[in-house]
Amino acid sequence: MQCYWCNIFLLPMSTIKDCELVLRTFLWGGRGRGKVKWAEVCKPFLEGGLGVRDLKTWNKALLLKQLWCVLTEESIWAKWCHDYLLHNSNLWSAPSHGHLSWSWRQVLLLRPLAKEHLIYKCGNDEQFSLWFDPWLHGDSVHALYGHRVILDAGLSKHARVKDVIWEDEWCWPQASCDLDELQQRVRNIPISTVPDSIHWDKVGEAFSTARAFHGIRLRSSSVDWHDIVWHSKRIPKHAFSLWLALRGAHRTKDKLLAFGVVHSAECAFLCGETETLEHLFFQCPFSAMVWREVLYMCNIVRPILPWADEVLCMSTHAKGSAFHHTVRRLAFAATTYHLWIERNRRCFKNLFLPHQEIIRLVRQDVSGKLASDNSSLRCELHHSLCVNWGVPLGEDI
Ligand SMILES: [Zn+2]
Repeated sequence: MQCYWCNIFLLPMSTIKDCELVLRTFLWGGRGRGKVKWAEVCKPFLEGGLGVRDLKTWNKALLLKQLWCVLTEESIWAKWCHDYLLHNSNLWSAPSHGHLSWSWRQVLLLRPLAKEHLIYKCGNDEQFSLWFDPWLHGDSVHALYGHRVILDAGLSKHARVKDVIWEDEWCWPQASCDLDELQQRVRNIPISTVPDSIHWDKVGEAFSTARAFHGIRLRSSSVDWHDIVWHSKRIPKHAFSLWLALRGAHRTKDKLLAFGVVHSAECAFLCGETETLEHLFFQCPFSAMVWREVLYMCNIVRPILPWADEVLCMSTHAKGSAFHHTVRRLAFAATTYHLWIERNRRCFKNLFLPHQEIIRLVRQDVSGKLASDNSSLRCELHHSLCVNWGVPLGEDI
Protein backbone atom coordinates (compact mmCIF):
# COMPACT_ATOMS: atom_id res chain seq x y z
CA MET A 1 0.00 0.00 0.00
CA GLN A 2 2.66 2.52 1.04
CA CYS A 3 4.67 1.55 -2.06
CA TYR A 4 1.82 2.65 -4.32
CA TRP A 5 1.54 6.05 -2.63
CA CYS A 6 5.35 6.37 -2.48
CA ASN A 7 5.30 6.04 -6.26
CA ILE A 8 2.86 8.88 -6.69
CA PHE A 9 3.56 11.52 -4.02
CA LEU A 10 6.23 12.69 -1.67
CA LEU A 11 4.60 11.41 1.50
CA PRO A 12 4.23 13.92 4.35
CA MET A 13 6.55 13.17 7.27
CA SER A 14 3.58 12.45 9.56
CA THR A 15 2.36 9.74 7.13
CA ILE A 16 5.84 8.21 6.96
CA LYS A 17 5.96 8.12 10.77
CA ASP A 18 2.52 6.45 10.90
CA CYS A 19 3.59 3.80 8.36
CA GLU A 20 6.79 3.14 10.29
CA LEU A 21 4.80 2.76 13.50
CA VAL A 22 2.80 -0.04 11.85
CA LEU A 23 6.04 -1.75 10.80
CA ARG A 24 7.63 -1.24 14.23
CA THR A 25 4.57 -2.63 15.98
CA PHE A 26 4.68 -5.67 13.72
CA LEU A 27 8.36 -6.22 14.50
CA TRP A 28 8.47 -5.47 18.20
CA GLY A 29 4.84 -5.88 19.26
CA GLY A 30 3.12 -3.70 21.87
CA ARG A 31 3.43 0.00 21.09
CA GLY A 32 6.28 -0.58 18.70
CA ARG A 33 9.01 0.33 21.17
CA GLY A 34 12.03 -1.47 19.87
CA LYS A 35 15.19 -2.95 21.26
CA VAL A 36 17.15 -1.51 18.34
CA LYS A 37 16.76 2.00 16.90
CA TRP A 38 14.57 2.10 13.80
CA ALA A 39 17.32 3.82 11.80
CA GLU A 40 19.57 0.82 12.59
CA VAL A 41 16.84 -1.69 11.67
CA CYS A 42 16.56 0.08 8.30
CA LYS A 43 20.19 -0.61 7.40
CA PRO A 44 20.97 -3.50 5.02
CA PHE A 45 22.08 -6.86 6.48
CA LEU A 46 25.63 -6.08 5.47
CA GLU A 47 25.65 -2.97 7.63
CA GLY A 48 24.14 -4.65 10.68
CA GLY A 49 20.45 -3.91 10.08
CA LEU A 50 17.42 -6.00 9.16
CA GLY A 51 17.25 -4.79 5.58
CA VAL A 52 13.98 -2.87 6.06
CA ARG A 53 13.85 0.00 3.58
CA ASP A 54 13.85 3.50 5.01
CA LEU A 55 10.52 4.84 3.76
CA LYS A 56 11.60 8.46 3.33
CA THR A 57 14.58 7.52 1.15
CA TRP A 58 12.56 4.88 -0.72
CA ASN A 59 9.90 7.50 -1.45
CA LYS A 60 12.56 9.84 -2.91
CA ALA A 61 14.03 7.03 -5.02
CA LEU A 62 10.59 6.29 -6.49
CA LEU A 63 10.00 9.96 -7.26
CA LEU A 64 13.41 10.16 -8.93
CA LYS A 65 11.99 7.55 -11.30
CA GLN A 66 9.30 10.05 -12.28
CA LEU A 67 11.99 12.62 -12.96
CA TRP A 68 13.91 10.07 -15.05
CA CYS A 69 10.75 9.28 -17.06
CA VAL A 70 10.22 12.98 -17.81
CA LEU A 71 13.87 13.38 -18.85
CA THR A 72 13.78 10.39 -21.16
CA GLU A 73 10.10 10.83 -22.19
CA GLU A 74 9.52 7.15 -21.62
CA SER A 75 5.79 7.18 -20.95
CA ILE A 76 2.60 8.85 -22.07
CA TRP A 77 2.51 10.55 -18.67
CA ALA A 78 6.00 11.99 -19.33
CA LYS A 79 4.88 13.30 -22.72
CA TRP A 80 1.83 14.83 -21.05
CA CYS A 81 4.15 16.52 -18.49
CA HIS A 82 6.18 18.05 -21.33
CA ASP A 83 3.06 19.33 -23.09
CA TYR A 84 0.98 20.55 -20.18
CA LEU A 85 3.35 21.23 -17.27
CA LEU A 86 6.59 22.23 -18.97
CA HIS A 87 4.91 23.67 -22.11
CA ASN A 88 7.77 22.13 -24.08
CA SER A 89 10.37 24.20 -22.22
CA ASN A 90 13.37 22.53 -20.52
CA LEU A 91 12.86 20.54 -17.33
CA TRP A 92 16.02 21.99 -15.78
CA SER A 93 14.98 25.60 -16.30
CA ALA A 94 11.34 25.16 -15.26
CA PRO A 95 10.50 27.16 -12.11
CA SER A 96 9.38 25.15 -9.08
CA HIS A 97 7.06 27.90 -7.82
CA GLY A 98 3.86 29.49 -9.07
CA HIS A 99 0.62 27.78 -9.96
CA LEU A 100 1.93 24.24 -9.82
CA SER A 101 0.52 21.23 -8.04
CA TRP A 102 2.26 20.29 -4.81
CA SER A 103 3.27 16.86 -6.13
CA TRP A 104 4.80 18.26 -9.34
CA ARG A 105 6.70 20.86 -7.30
CA GLN A 106 8.16 18.07 -5.14
CA VAL A 107 9.33 16.24 -8.25
CA LEU A 108 11.01 19.44 -9.51
CA LEU A 109 12.68 19.96 -6.12
CA LEU A 110 14.46 16.64 -6.58
CA ARG A 111 16.38 17.98 -9.58
CA PRO A 112 19.59 18.88 -7.66
CA LEU A 113 19.67 15.36 -6.18
CA ALA A 114 19.09 13.77 -9.59
CA LYS A 115 21.82 15.94 -11.13
CA GLU A 116 24.41 14.36 -8.82
CA HIS A 117 23.72 10.95 -10.39
CA LEU A 118 22.92 11.75 -14.02
CA ILE A 119 25.50 11.44 -16.76
CA TYR A 120 24.83 13.21 -20.07
CA LYS A 121 26.76 11.84 -23.04
CA CYS A 122 26.83 14.21 -25.96
CA GLY A 123 26.19 12.50 -29.27
CA ASN A 124 25.27 13.41 -32.80
CA ASP A 125 21.63 14.43 -32.47
CA GLU A 126 19.80 17.45 -31.14
CA GLN A 127 18.38 16.19 -27.89
CA PHE A 128 20.32 18.24 -25.31
CA SER A 129 19.66 21.88 -24.59
CA LEU A 130 22.93 23.82 -24.94
CA TRP A 131 22.20 26.10 -22.00
CA PHE A 132 20.04 24.18 -19.54
CA ASP A 133 20.82 20.45 -19.65
CA PRO A 134 23.62 19.41 -17.25
CA TRP A 135 25.89 17.94 -19.96
CA LEU A 136 28.96 20.05 -18.97
CA HIS A 137 30.69 17.82 -16.39
CA GLY A 138 27.39 17.38 -14.51
CA ASP A 139 26.30 21.03 -14.69
CA SER A 140 24.51 23.24 -17.15
CA VAL A 141 26.13 26.20 -18.87
CA HIS A 142 23.36 28.42 -17.52
CA ALA A 143 23.96 27.29 -13.92
CA LEU A 144 27.71 27.96 -14.24
CA TYR A 145 27.75 31.19 -16.25
CA GLY A 146 24.29 32.73 -15.83
CA HIS A 147 22.03 34.29 -18.43
CA ARG A 148 24.67 36.69 -19.78
CA VAL A 149 26.48 33.96 -21.68
CA ILE A 150 23.36 33.25 -23.76
CA LEU A 151 23.20 36.88 -24.86
CA ASP A 152 26.95 37.00 -25.54
CA ALA A 153 26.81 33.91 -27.74
CA GLY A 154 24.06 35.35 -29.88
CA LEU A 155 22.33 31.99 -29.95
CA SER A 156 18.71 31.29 -29.13
CA LYS A 157 17.85 30.04 -25.64
CA HIS A 158 16.47 26.98 -27.40
CA ALA A 159 19.91 26.22 -28.90
CA ARG A 160 21.08 22.61 -28.87
CA VAL A 161 24.53 21.26 -28.00
CA LYS A 162 24.84 20.30 -31.67
CA ASP A 163 24.83 24.05 -32.53
CA VAL A 164 28.35 24.50 -31.12
CA ILE A 165 29.76 21.42 -32.85
CA TRP A 166 31.20 21.84 -36.32
CA GLU A 167 32.68 18.87 -38.19
CA ASP A 168 33.06 16.86 -34.97
CA GLU A 169 34.90 19.72 -33.22
CA TRP A 170 33.71 22.05 -30.46
CA CYS A 171 33.20 25.45 -31.98
CA TRP A 172 31.88 28.08 -29.56
CA PRO A 173 31.37 31.69 -30.70
CA GLN A 174 34.39 33.62 -29.40
CA ALA A 175 32.48 36.68 -28.22
CA SER A 176 33.38 36.94 -24.53
CA CYS A 177 35.81 35.68 -21.88
CA ASP A 178 33.17 33.24 -20.62
CA LEU A 179 32.74 31.76 -24.08
CA ASP A 180 36.53 31.46 -24.50
CA GLU A 181 36.64 29.64 -21.18
CA LEU A 182 33.80 27.38 -22.29
CA GLN A 183 35.69 26.48 -25.45
CA GLN A 184 38.63 25.36 -23.27
CA ARG A 185 36.43 23.61 -20.78
CA VAL A 186 34.60 21.38 -23.26
CA ARG A 187 37.76 20.29 -25.07
CA ASN A 188 38.02 17.06 -23.09
CA ILE A 189 34.36 16.14 -23.62
CA PRO A 190 34.33 13.54 -26.40
CA ILE A 191 31.79 13.95 -29.16
CA SER A 192 30.20 10.59 -29.76
CA THR A 193 28.91 9.41 -33.13
CA VAL A 194 25.91 7.75 -31.50
CA PRO A 195 22.76 9.66 -30.42
CA ASP A 196 22.72 11.76 -27.24
CA SER A 197 22.10 9.61 -24.21
CA ILE A 198 21.42 9.95 -20.48
CA HIS A 199 22.75 7.47 -17.92
CA TRP A 200 22.36 6.97 -14.19
CA ASP A 201 25.52 6.77 -12.05
CA LYS A 202 27.50 4.88 -14.71
CA VAL A 203 27.75 5.17 -18.47
CA GLY A 204 25.66 2.40 -20.03
CA GLU A 205 23.32 2.09 -17.03
CA ALA A 206 19.71 3.21 -17.11
CA PHE A 207 17.83 4.27 -14.00
CA SER A 208 16.73 1.62 -11.55
CA THR A 209 14.84 2.41 -8.36
CA ALA A 210 16.98 -0.02 -6.36
CA ARG A 211 20.23 1.58 -7.49
CA ALA A 212 18.84 5.07 -6.94
CA PHE A 213 17.78 4.05 -3.42
CA HIS A 214 21.25 2.76 -2.58
CA GLY A 215 22.82 5.77 -4.25
CA ILE A 216 20.98 8.32 -2.11
CA ARG A 217 20.75 6.50 1.24
CA LEU A 218 23.18 7.17 4.06
CA ARG A 219 25.77 4.42 4.11
CA SER A 220 27.43 2.88 7.14
CA SER A 221 30.45 0.64 7.37
CA SER A 222 29.77 -3.08 7.05
CA VAL A 223 29.84 -5.41 10.04
CA ASP A 224 32.04 -8.53 10.09
CA TRP A 225 29.33 -10.74 11.52
CA HIS A 226 26.57 -10.27 8.93
CA ASP A 227 27.19 -13.57 7.12
CA ILE A 228 27.15 -15.71 10.26
CA VAL A 229 23.60 -14.45 10.86
CA TRP A 230 22.03 -13.88 7.44
CA HIS A 231 23.17 -16.91 5.44
CA SER A 232 20.81 -18.85 3.18
CA LYS A 233 20.50 -21.88 5.55
CA ARG A 234 19.56 -19.83 8.61
CA ILE A 235 16.71 -20.71 10.96
CA PRO A 236 14.79 -17.40 11.06
CA LYS A 237 14.02 -17.22 14.80
CA HIS A 238 17.60 -18.22 15.66
CA ALA A 239 18.99 -15.61 13.25
CA PHE A 240 16.81 -12.89 14.76
CA SER A 241 17.82 -13.82 18.30
CA LEU A 242 21.51 -13.89 17.31
CA TRP A 243 21.10 -10.52 15.57
CA LEU A 244 19.71 -9.06 18.80
CA ALA A 245 22.61 -10.55 20.77
CA LEU A 246 25.19 -9.19 18.31
CA ARG A 247 23.60 -5.76 18.48
CA GLY A 248 23.71 -5.98 22.28
CA ALA A 249 19.94 -5.57 22.30
CA HIS A 250 18.90 -8.40 24.63
CA ARG A 251 17.53 -6.88 27.81
CA THR A 252 19.83 -8.59 30.25
CA LYS A 253 19.42 -8.05 33.98
CA ASP A 254 22.33 -5.60 34.30
CA LYS A 255 20.41 -3.24 31.95
CA LEU A 256 17.09 -3.85 33.69
CA LEU A 257 18.74 -3.08 37.05
CA ALA A 258 20.07 0.21 35.67
CA PHE A 259 16.52 1.09 34.52
CA GLY A 260 15.17 0.15 37.97
CA VAL A 261 12.99 -2.64 36.52
CA VAL A 262 14.50 -5.40 38.69
CA HIS A 263 16.08 -5.39 42.14
CA SER A 264 18.81 -7.91 41.45
CA ALA A 265 20.95 -8.64 38.41
CA GLU A 266 21.88 -12.13 39.55
CA CYS A 267 22.41 -14.60 36.71
CA ALA A 268 19.34 -16.74 35.98
CA PHE A 269 21.61 -19.80 35.76
CA LEU A 270 22.30 -19.42 39.49
CA CYS A 271 26.06 -19.01 39.34
CA GLY A 272 26.01 -15.96 41.60
CA GLU A 273 27.49 -13.60 38.99
CA THR A 274 25.87 -10.53 37.43
CA GLU A 275 23.89 -11.28 34.26
CA THR A 276 25.41 -9.38 31.36
CA LEU A 277 25.38 -10.29 27.69
CA GLU A 278 29.05 -11.32 27.87
CA HIS A 279 28.38 -13.43 30.94
CA LEU A 280 25.37 -15.15 29.42
CA PHE A 281 27.26 -15.93 26.17
CA PHE A 282 29.28 -17.93 27.29
CA GLN A 283 31.24 -17.06 30.44
CA CYS A 284 28.56 -18.42 32.80
CA PRO A 285 29.50 -22.01 33.82
CA PHE A 286 26.06 -23.23 32.66
CA SER A 287 26.38 -21.61 29.18
CA ALA A 288 30.02 -22.67 28.95
CA MET A 289 29.04 -26.32 29.49
CA VAL A 290 26.49 -26.09 26.67
CA TRP A 291 28.80 -24.23 24.27
CA ARG A 292 31.74 -26.54 25.00
CA GLU A 293 29.62 -29.58 24.10
CA VAL A 294 28.25 -27.87 20.97
CA LEU A 295 31.79 -26.96 19.86
CA TYR A 296 32.80 -30.56 20.50
CA MET A 297 29.98 -31.73 18.19
CA CYS A 298 31.45 -29.31 15.60
CA ASN A 299 34.80 -31.13 16.08
CA ILE A 300 36.29 -28.05 17.75
CA VAL A 301 38.16 -28.45 21.03
CA ARG A 302 39.37 -25.19 22.55
CA PRO A 303 38.77 -23.04 25.63
CA ILE A 304 35.64 -20.87 25.68
CA LEU A 305 36.48 -17.30 24.66
CA PRO A 306 34.88 -13.99 25.67
CA TRP A 307 31.77 -13.11 23.60
CA ALA A 308 33.52 -10.61 21.28
CA ASP A 309 36.24 -13.17 20.53
CA GLU A 310 33.72 -15.97 19.95
CA VAL A 311 31.95 -13.71 17.43
CA LEU A 312 35.25 -12.85 15.76
CA CYS A 313 36.22 -16.52 15.67
CA MET A 314 32.89 -17.46 14.05
CA SER A 315 33.14 -14.55 11.58
CA THR A 316 36.58 -15.82 10.55
CA HIS A 317 36.10 -19.59 10.61
CA ALA A 318 32.44 -20.07 9.67
CA LYS A 319 31.76 -17.70 6.79
CA GLY A 320 32.20 -20.05 3.83
CA SER A 321 29.63 -22.19 2.06
CA ALA A 322 31.23 -25.54 2.97
CA PHE A 323 29.17 -28.02 5.00
CA HIS A 324 31.23 -27.63 8.19
CA HIS A 325 30.87 -23.82 8.00
CA THR A 326 27.10 -24.17 7.78
CA VAL A 327 27.13 -26.51 10.78
CA ARG A 328 29.14 -24.00 12.84
CA ARG A 329 26.90 -21.08 11.95
CA LEU A 330 23.72 -23.03 12.70
CA ALA A 331 25.19 -24.33 15.96
CA PHE A 332 26.27 -20.86 17.10
CA ALA A 333 22.85 -19.31 16.41
CA ALA A 334 20.97 -22.27 17.93
CA THR A 335 23.06 -22.15 21.11
CA THR A 336 22.55 -18.43 21.71
CA TYR A 337 18.83 -18.85 20.94
CA HIS A 338 18.24 -21.77 23.31
CA LEU A 339 20.33 -20.23 26.10
CA TRP A 340 18.31 -17.03 25.84
CA ILE A 341 15.02 -19.00 25.82
CA GLU A 342 16.17 -20.98 28.86
CA ARG A 343 17.12 -17.76 30.65
CA ASN A 344 13.61 -16.38 29.95
CA ARG A 345 11.98 -19.68 30.96
CA ARG A 346 13.75 -19.48 34.33
CA CYS A 347 12.96 -15.76 34.81
CA PHE A 348 9.31 -15.77 33.78
CA LYS A 349 8.03 -19.33 34.25
CA ASN A 350 10.29 -20.52 37.03
CA LEU A 351 11.00 -23.67 34.99
CA PHE A 352 14.53 -25.06 34.81
CA LEU A 353 15.97 -27.32 32.12
CA PRO A 354 19.33 -29.05 32.70
CA HIS A 355 22.18 -28.23 30.34
CA GLN A 356 21.90 -31.67 28.67
CA GLU A 357 18.38 -30.74 27.60
CA ILE A 358 19.58 -27.44 26.08
CA ILE A 359 22.24 -29.36 24.14
CA ARG A 360 19.55 -31.80 22.94
CA LEU A 361 17.38 -28.91 21.72
CA VAL A 362 20.34 -27.34 19.88
CA ARG A 363 21.17 -30.68 18.27
CA GLN A 364 17.55 -31.28 17.31
CA ASP A 365 17.20 -27.88 15.58
CA VAL A 366 20.55 -28.02 13.81
CA SER A 367 20.18 -31.60 12.61
CA GLY A 368 16.60 -30.95 11.49
CA LYS A 369 17.79 -28.05 9.34
CA LEU A 370 20.79 -29.96 7.98
CA ALA A 371 18.68 -33.03 7.15
CA SER A 372 16.19 -30.90 5.22
CA ASP A 373 19.01 -29.41 3.16
CA ASN A 374 20.56 -30.76 -0.03
CA SER A 375 22.26 -34.02 1.04
CA SER A 376 24.75 -33.96 -1.86
CA LEU A 377 26.74 -31.31 0.07
CA ARG A 378 27.63 -33.96 2.65
CA CYS A 379 30.36 -36.45 1.80
CA GLU A 380 32.64 -38.94 3.55
CA LEU A 381 34.80 -36.02 4.72
CA HIS A 382 31.91 -34.94 6.90
CA HIS A 383 31.32 -38.37 8.34
CA SER A 384 32.17 -37.51 11.95
CA LEU A 385 30.22 -34.23 11.82
CA CYS A 386 27.17 -36.10 10.50
CA VAL A 387 27.49 -38.70 13.24
CA ASN A 388 27.86 -36.01 15.93
CA TRP A 389 24.74 -34.20 14.79
CA GLY A 390 22.76 -37.29 13.78
CA VAL A 391 22.44 -36.33 10.10
CA PRO A 392 22.53 -39.00 7.35
CA LEU A 393 25.34 -38.75 4.81
CA GLY A 394 24.58 -37.91 1.18
CA GLU A 395 22.91 -40.63 -0.94
CA ASP A 396 25.76 -40.77 -3.43
CA ILE A 397 28.15 -42.17 -0.79
ZN1 LIG B 1 25.80 -17.27 35.23
